[in-house]
Amino acid sequence: MNKSDLVVITGAGGFIGGSLARSFQERGFSRIRAVDKKPLSNWYQRVPGVECLSLDVSEPDNCVRACEGAVEVYNLAADMGGMGFIERFRVECLRSILINTHMLEAAWRAGVERFFYSSSACVYNTELQKDTASSALKESDAYPAMAERGYGWEKLMSEMFCQEYWAERGLKTFIARFHNVYGPNGTWDGGREKAPAALCRKVIDAKDKGRNWIEIWGDGTRTRSFMYIDDCVKGIDMITHFEDLIATPINLGSTELVSVNELVSIIEGIAGVKLERRYDLSAPKGVGGRNSDNTMIRRILKWEPSTPLKSGLKKTYEWIEQQYMDRKAGKRTVE
Ligand code: NAD
Repeated sequence: MNKSDLVVITGAGGFIGGSLARSFQERGFSRIRAVDKKPLSNWYQRVPGVECLSLDVSEPDNCVRACEGAVEVYNLAADMGGMGFIERFRVECLRSILINTHMLEAAWRAGVERFFYSSSACVYNTELQKDTASSALKESDAYPAMAERGYGWEKLMSEMFCQEYWAERGLKTFIARFHNVYGPNGTWDGGREKAPAALCRKVIDAKDKGRNWIEIWGDGTRTRSFMYIDDCVKGIDMITHFEDLIATPINLGSTELVSVNELVSIIEGIAGVKLERRYDLSAPKGVGGRNSDNTMIRRILKWEPSTPLKSGLKKTYEWIEQQYMDRKAGKRTVE
């Protein structure tokens, strides 16, 4: 790829899209177009030298505008959030199908060379994830399908669109199934945040207010793996430029499995506190256990996400603490 080729990133006002735009800029790409439906003032990151467009890419005409002249398209826009959001707003999640449908068509018409789609571990069959000791999910475990209601089915269907645009129309598509991404510049409050950010915020809040307890959703035994943002951005680049992976969904996640209780303990260690844990058993909690099976990515890319949870969480905690203090001081923050 030429450094002056136009790269288009949707969802760039959000967490991963914003970090991806920054990484292209840092690697010397001179033409980056960032697109998001949020007003520019609400974008998490505004990267200098990047063209920023506030467009709703669930509308076909806006997708045509977004893809004009593009060589590569990274479609990360989606109406999404943590369990609290995806269990409550299934219609919004399903409606993201419009985004990928129109973006693919516009990209194909514009003659785009590569199209990346951000899928999710939520496509995997939920029947395989009931137990907290569930084994890691490999790519073939998506079928026979029984994806997460709403969000997971939308992702699975969008994957299929990507595969058929390659099979029938020759558009090179690349599909990564992200497993819980976390890091600085992500949502940390407001209802869309995921467990690592939510727990960091709760610990920071308890410390700040001198409270000796925090509320935890579920009973703390559910297990997950969490991928640091830098690994995610690197993986997106590697996957999109590996010909063997055209139209082939692949896991992009960490294999460091932890329970929610272990996650809390790591955060307490970073914060230097020990808090009483009050479990809210009626809160949304998602599947029992989920990990990434990295056999395929290791074999094909000879690489896998490897940032230790402890070090990634330290950076995340420090960033959220700064955001928290800024908000307290009346400054504008990311949420
Ligand atoms: P995010 O919510 O921070 O970013 C998504 C962005 O998309 C938001 O800024 C939102 O405004 C924008 N958007 C939504 N609808 C749009 C529309 N119609 N037009 C234009 N922009 C629109 O989320 P994220 O964590 O950065 O996730 C990025 C992608 O990765 C999403 O597709 C998500 O489903 C996927 N993913 C994320 C995770 C994770 O753990 N964060 C896990 C699996 C998959």
